[in-house]
Amino acid sequence: MARRSRMSAALLMEVYRRLLAARGHQGWWPGDGPFEVVVGAVLTQNTAWVNVERAIANLRAAGVLDPHRLAALDPDALAALLRPAGYFNVKARRLRAVNEFLLREAGGDVTALGHDHDTGALRARLLRIPGVGRETADSILLYALGRAVFVVDAYTRRMFGRMGLLDPAMDYDAIRAVFETRLPPDANLFNDYHAQIVIHGKETCRPRPRCGECVTRDLCALGTAGGREDRGEPTEVRHVPG
Ligand code: SF4
Repeated sequence: MARRSRMSAALLMEVYRRLLAARGHQGWWPGDGPFEVVVGAVLTQNTAWVNVERAIANLRAAGVLDPHRLAALDPDALAALLRPAGYFNVKARRLRAVNEFLLREAGGDVTALGHDHDTGALRARLLRIPGVGRETADSILLYALGRAVFVVDAYTRRMFGRMGLLDPAMDYDAIRAVFETRLPPDANLFNDYHAQIVIHGKETCRPRPRCGECVTRDLCALGTAGGREDRGEPTEVRHVPG
């Protein structure tokens, strides 16, 4: 049986309006320019954002927070600078691969990336870079390039799964399509909606949910049932700013 979502466009907007009213616009993604956003999107997997900030600070202090200077850096030296972000050898390889793509495709100018490609084509090209998964590619598209792509993460699955609005086991792209087909194709909306979900997941819809203080409780299957559930930490929690 196909996995389903029960979300209507009106309900999806109501959830966003309530999260926005509770916490205000999140102003993501913090970072000094689009290249730093790309670097952060690569480094943020499986670590807390504070560790990403330390690694980015190392890159800045070494004067290599620039595509051309980063490419000239010895791979071992790059890995050492990325140590605070964890999995630093793997992340160094991924960052070099993304940087090579950026230099090859756009001469190092992130904003020029994909000028000749629609979003789907550019996404496909990003996903061909070794080590770049769908969440990283979509984070780059949305937060560095302003493309209207909805980023899905473990917080999204947990919150909307608990609400009874989608099956959390749905494929990444199926969940992405639920949001993208029901919401207006507005990159600013997608930007802040994802940010709100992450902050809500960190502060309220936690592994042990705080339903008593949740602004979407009356819309939520688990919340209206008493909120007694503990699924443990999501397996793919992406600790991003917030
Ligand atoms: S009511 Fe509880 S389970 Fe539902 S979204 Fe809010 S915190 Fe999460």
